[in-house]
Amino acid sequence: MNPSRPTIFALSSGRPPAAIAVVRVCGLRARAVLEKLIGRVPPPRQAVLARVRDPQSGEVIDEALALWFPAPHSETGEDMAELQLHGGHAVIAAVLDALGTIAGCRPAEAGEFTRRAFENGRLDLTAVEGLADLIAAETPAQRRQAFRQLKGLIGDWAERWRHTLIEALALVEARIDFADEADVPEDLVAPALASAKRLREEIAAALADGRRGERLRDGIIIAIAGPPNAGKSTLLNRLARREAAIVSPHPGTTRDVIEVHTDLDGYPATLLDTAGMRHSDDPVEQEGVRRAEESARGADLVLWVTDVSAIGGAGGKPRYAVGSDVWVVENKVDLVGDKRCENGELRPTENRSSTFAISALTGTGMDALMAALTGFARDYFATTESAIVTRARHRRALEDTVAALDRCLAEGKSGREELIAEQLRAAATMLGRLTGRVDVEDILDVIFRDFCIGK
Ligand code: GDP
Repeated sequence: MNPSRPTIFALSSGRPPAAIAVVRVCGLRARAVLEKLIGRVPPPRQAVLARVRDPQSGEVIDEALALWFPAPHSETGEDMAELQLHGGHAVIAAVLDALGTIAGCRPAEAGEFTRRAFENGRLDLTAVEGLADLIAAETPAQRRQAFRQLKGLIGDWAERWRHTLIEALALVEARIDFADEADVPEDLVAPALASAKRLREEIAAALADGRRGERLRDGIIIAIAGPPNAGKSTLLNRLARREAAIVSPHPGTTRDVIEVHTDLDGYPATLLDTAGMRHSDDPVEQEGVRRAEESARGADLVLWVTDVSAIGGAGGKPRYAVGSDVWVVENKVDLVGDKRCENGELRPTENRSSTFAISALTGTGMDALMAALTGFARDYFATTESAIVTRARHRRALEDTVAALDRCLAEGKSGREELIAEQLRAAATMLGRLTGRVDVEDILDVIFRDFCIGK
């Protein structure tokens, strides 16, 4: 470890004031920090109660639980100290100030503890992303997915695949480097190509997941669209169970797109309330309509809300929502005494489209709509548990790997060993990028371990 590398410290718990505040220190000076602040170093991984003193004035700042995690058995792999203080503004400020006066210590930058964990090989890049997702997770399904990523869901696969590639590469390189040796078998290239082909199929299968894993991070997108005053904002508020949009009796008030994050039976969803679709001379309103159309186009589901009490209200279908499922929601049935809404009956009409009769104002028919939405989300995410690709970055790395394997297999027909090796190496590098571990030493290790050439 670099001895000139600064020791970093930060408030690791949430916004004060709170019952407890956790301050963490990481680096070579962590031991000195404990000695200066509490006058001793607790036994490894055991909490001790201690007075925290200002190292300059000797004044007692607080009484805290102190912990000591010597390297390498710490979260970052470096020496770490942790203080669990009373979570008041002044206590925290005094402790952070005191830490700032200790030579070799400075406040941590965003993500710096995790960065050190990565640099010290405690976490690979996909686990780092999983950790970030776990902290950001808002629904149980997101939490489960993030935790699996933190524990190496895609990272373990990538390492396994990379290992297979390195073994294939070792075969081809051995053939190239030691072609004249009597103890190197003739055909090492064919088994390498067979293994590359199997790998290509396996990675391609992982990619063919309908992007469910990526979507689970962001949630499915449900756009609420329809003519002005149909009751879109009122419906959004009901679905989101809070006053998110401004409900107004004047047509054309919802001028921008309002986004509300919610969950449907544990699955994340983003509801978009779009500006009323109507022709207008007001440029601000025109812009609202344009944005509304754009967001509805990218939605997984469009709820097309109509006012059944208006003249010709129930008619009309969005033209722009190609590619999305569209459900027609006939609203304000309370005004027309519509019989269909009594049990909130759902009437499937044409293919992939459904019609609901509701009153967003009184809540009639909302249970059926809610149940259908939950079912939609559940079906949408039904295959997610098996998805391992949760970010566009993963997808790009795996697509690049498949492309390199395709080039490798094409070279296989030509039999040019150097070019086959080059593509295998490229594929291994792509996978290495996924986990953040690109290391040619690995290749040499395998060559010398498996072939025992003794030179
Ligand atoms: P938006 O322009 O489509 O977002 O429509 P709003 O949600 O702002 O609603 C327009 C007006 O219709 C408001 O005065 C609402 O209170 C009213 N409204 C919405 N839904 C219903 C409903 O189901 N029944 C009745 N009677 N009025 C409703």
